[in-house]
Amino acid sequence: MSKPSNHHTSDRQRIAETEARLKALIEATSDVVYSLSPDWHEMRELDGRGFLKDANAPSTKWRSENVHEDDLEMVNAKIEECIREKKIFQLEHRVLRADGTMGWTSSKAIPILDEHGEIIEWFGTAKDITPRKSAEEALENAQVKSDQQKRLYETVTSSTPDLLYVFDLDYRFTYANQALLNMWGKTWEDSIGKTLLENGYEPWHAEMHEKEIDQIKEKKLPIRGEVSFPHAVLGRRVYDYIFTPVLNEYGEVEAIAGATRDVTDRKKWEESLESSSKALHAVNEELANTNNELEATIKEVAVVNDELTKANAKIEEGQIAFRLAVNAANFGTWFVHSITREFITDARSKELFGYREDEAFSIEQALAQITDEYRPYVTEKLENAIYNNGDYDVTYPVIGLHDNRLRWLRAIGNLKADPSGDFSAFTGIVMDITEQYLAGEEIKRAEENLRMAVDAAGLGTFQISADDRIFTASPKLKTFFGFHPDEPMSYEAAISQIHPDFRKSVAANVERAFSEGTRFDMEHQIIGYHDEKLRWVRAIGEVHHKKGKKFFTGVIHEITEKKLDEIRKNDFIAMVSHELKTPLTSVKGYIQLMQRKFAGTEDNVFSSMLDKADFQIKKMTAMINGFLDISRLESGKIHINREMFNLSSLLREAEEEFMATTSSHILIFSPIESVKINADRNKIGQVIHNLISNAIKYSPIGSTIHVTCTSDHEFAYVHVKDNGKGIKPEDASHIFDRYYRVENDNMHSISGFGIGLYLCSEIISHHQGNISLESEIGKGSDFVFSLPLNVD
Ligand code: ADP
Repeated sequence: MSKPSNHHTSDRQRIAETEARLKALIEATSDVVYSLSPDWHEMRELDGRGFLKDANAPSTKWRSENVHEDDLEMVNAKIEECIREKKIFQLEHRVLRADGTMGWTSSKAIPILDEHGEIIEWFGTAKDITPRKSAEEALENAQVKSDQQKRLYETVTSSTPDLLYVFDLDYRFTYANQALLNMWGKTWEDSIGKTLLENGYEPWHAEMHEKEIDQIKEKKLPIRGEVSFPHAVLGRRVYDYIFTPVLNEYGEVEAIAGATRDVTDRKKWEESLESSSKALHAVNEELANTNNELEATIKEVAVVNDELTKANAKIEEGQIAFRLAVNAANFGTWFVHSITREFITDARSKELFGYREDEAFSIEQALAQITDEYRPYVTEKLENAIYNNGDYDVTYPVIGLHDNRLRWLRAIGNLKADPSGDFSAFTGIVMDITEQYLAGEEIKRAEENLRMAVDAAGLGTFQISADDRIFTASPKLKTFFGFHPDEPMSYEAAISQIHPDFRKSVAANVERAFSEGTRFDMEHQIIGYHDEKLRWVRAIGEVHHKKGKKFFTGVIHEITEKKLDEIRKNDFIAMVSHELKTPLTSVKGYIQLMQRKFAGTEDNVFSSMLDKADFQIKKMTAMINGFLDISRLESGKIHINREMFNLSSLLREAEEEFMATTSSHILIFSPIESVKINADRNKIGQVIHNLISNAIKYSPIGSTIHVTCTSDHEFAYVHVKDNGKGIKPEDASHIFDRYYRVENDNMHSISGFGIGLYLCSEIISHHQGNISLESEIGKGSDFVFSLPLNVD
């Protein structure tokens, strides 16, 4: 703090103090300080501070000494303006520095005014801004240069069809030329700074390039590759690309520059070039061959010439043959002039219309012979053919003019412009097709009769197409299914009206018919759609091919009455058989009692009579049991009681039984494999028993019967093979039918009802097995049944 000033300190002293402070302040700045006369003519003082030349004494030469001549005009103009307006002078301009070189200053001078507002002095400072200015200038130059460079690059990169681009180390595009932008269909703003993925590259493609960029970052070596991807307009193209590392001054990878070239066309050229050169090679070879051949050919020409002469003769013969053929086929030919309607015909045409050869014959006359019913149709076709080039292939009946004969004629014509261009010639043939036509009509009538017969027999008919299961049914058939005769009915609707007990097997058999071509023949129940009536029907169908398409066609007829009769009959048989069993059992009991009683006596005659009675009773019991089985089967009461057992043990039991009771035949049970099955032991035993009994029954005494049991991984097989009389193929196909017996001379001497094999086949099919027969007449029969092994 300063001491309080003395009240008597003079003004002069105060001014001196202020001046000293001011000076100190000015000293402290590094700027040039100067003062000038009011009109700037005289530089009163200039402290150049090493930057400008000092002016210790007032000088009027300061402009030429300090200001750079190029800026003088500008400086003067500014001085004038500031003097006029008495405002602060402020300007950046070039100066001549103390060392005589050019420099830059930022100069500011303030006008000092007297109490009247007149300028008495300018007091100013000037700063050395040379370094800043030269930096700015250098920057500006650099900018101009870089702009030039950029323009140059732009011009180069935008005029090439190649794709040029730069990635930063984060895989972002920092540059993309116009061709690449075009290919993406994007703008610079949309795509720069974005990654490959963001610019629409497929993930595999982006990933591939990113890996390559990583590799370049690591190895600092360029990578070249080929890739194929879609172009916005041109579709899928092939590109050849090269990625190059951009290194900074320290040799580090700073960016990755890429160039890609569309080589699709080049590839194509290369390929075509290759194939052309191959072709060229081939042509050359051909040429060599051809030369050789040419010589040979010249020799051959002479031969061919001869041949030609001969062929010409043949053609002539051919033409004659053609004419003869026309005559033989008895075609008539005709010609119509499209303008004059002149009608030229041959004798045969006239004959077909009942005209004589020498008579005049016009189109109108020809039309007049056509029956009234057909005339308008033929006339219209004819006119349309001549004047509109319509097709002309017509069949019509004609009554001959003189002979009054009815003929069916077919005429085919063709319109052709005459080479003169003046008219068209309508030419053609006409033939007598009466016989074929009438035969066709006959077939139609026969079909109609058949339809009537089918109707009369009460048969419903159907057709199912293999491709799309389109179902066509006759009205009668629809009524069986409880639909109205004219109501639409689909295949699915038909199947769903079939009684659930049969539905699956009917559908499966239809499919089998389609896939294996098997005949379909089934009896099943239908529940009426509207009337809900239960009907029994028999359906028979077969697969046919019509016009290259597969169809399943057939007939259905109602058998409800017959079926109900059968059911009644079965019920009756069941009842009777059942009633017969009780007395039979008593009789059997009595006989056994008697057998025991006479066992110890000498009465052999009586004893053997009892044995025979016992044998007959056994036969009768077996028969009755058979009938009972049938009735159970028919009414669906057959039950399969499955258990696991070994088929071989069952066969061993059968072996023991037959060995004990049969002395008439040689029975061989071998090989008998051990095989476990899940089945109804009693019923399978019944089947085996039946087959062996039949073999004994139908083969001569003393002959051999072979029984075998084998298996594979799916089935067990049992064969019963005899050397008997065998079965004819036509019988073999029915042998498993109910009550079927082979008709022959000694049939009546062998007892039976034809139910044994029927029962066998039913039992086996209830086990999802199969039974079949191979037989040769006079040699013997081989019955085989199979049972599936893997059943739960
Ligand atoms: P049946 O009680 O009449 O024997 P099946 O149903 O067992 O009834 O046999 C039907 C018919 O098949 C027999 O009538 C017979 O003509 C013929 N048949 C069955 N087995 C044989 C066989 N092993 N050899 C020749 N014919 C046979």
